[in-house]
Amino acid sequence: MSEDSNSAILDPIEDDGRRASIGSLGGSIGSSIGSLGEIEIAPLTPLTPLTPLTPQQNVPRQTGSLATHSDDHAITRIKNMKMIELGKYRIKPWYFSPYPQEITSLDCIYICEFCLKYRKSRKCLERHLHKCPFKHPPGNEIYRKGSVSFFELDGRKNKLYAQNLCLLAKLFLDHKTLYYDTDPFLFYVMTECDMRGYHIVGYFSKEKESSEDYNVACILTLPPYQRKGYGKLLIEFSYELSKFEGKTGSPEKPLSDLGLLSYRSYWKQTILEILIALKPQEGQEKPQLTINEICEQTSIKKEDVISTLTNLELINYYRGQYILTLNKELVDSHRKIMEKRKVRIDSKYLHWTPKDWAKRGKW
Ligand SMILES: [Zn+2]
Repeated sequence: MSEDSNSAILDPIEDDGRRASIGSLGGSIGSSIGSLGEIEIAPLTPLTPLTPLTPQQNVPRQTGSLATHSDDHAITRIKNMKMIELGKYRIKPWYFSPYPQEITSLDCIYICEFCLKYRKSRKCLERHLHKCPFKHPPGNEIYRKGSVSFFELDGRKNKLYAQNLCLLAKLFLDHKTLYYDTDPFLFYVMTECDMRGYHIVGYFSKEKESSEDYNVACILTLPPYQRKGYGKLLIEFSYELSKFEGKTGSPEKPLSDLGLLSYRSYWKQTILEILIALKPQEGQEKPQLTINEICEQTSIKKEDVISTLTNLELINYYRGQYILTLNKELVDSHRKIMEKRKVRIDSKYLHWTPKDWAKRGKW
């Protein structure tokens, strides 16, 4: 293994004779890997019902639009809508969403793809479209490359849009509580542009202030756009924002099954990209880097970096050092996958300055 030119040494490492510890990384990697290996990342449960909470109800932690919900009523889990029409797509909802009852009994509801207001018939929607001034989401367009744009909007300033977005998202996300209070959140809406306007593809929300370093609260690619690489683009964008903030971040837990798969694959690809590009420094036989350096370059939180390396079974302990060994198969399959990932976020096109919400008092 030591002869493998694709191996990298995790540095700094000391062998204390019993269990090697990574001094400057804080704690021993041996023990952290042990415990991380057991971490159960539960299914990503984005939103839960918009039913107004009565005072005697137990109000869960205010994660704004989406929090885990412990005391589900069976009713909140039953899919209540047959069909929605959004732009050129007719989509079958997957889960319950608290749209008004008089709407949910209809065969189809018609949603304006630009402002996300809903109407009970196509005729009503057509009337709305004549008046609707929007051809894109509200807020600021902070990124545009090719046909892909991102709009940033404030859940307080664009409350109605944010609430309608949460209602729409809830149709495809299970296990989360959806609140009317969107104030503590920013929303990043990804669109694809054509002659008719900027069409919503997906979004993620983000707490203005997160005490737990979450850089995504809820994330969704709308079904017509799934399995086309857009989910990864959303994730990549969320980490790009964290890089601009000079922070590491992680998505709010629990993740949905689909969300967890996307994140795992994003982490794997991003970390492998760095490891494969790594060159040994002068006078060194093998490239060296610390886990912290991976975190700094990617803005991926340390736990997620370690769990990714562990899941990939790349870490070996050899002569008192932790060594990452990349075999040819892994490198080849990574290259093939990356060739398919043609659309990437390009930080040159991001026009954005992070705000320090903590200093602003009330958002
Ligand atoms: Zn509209």
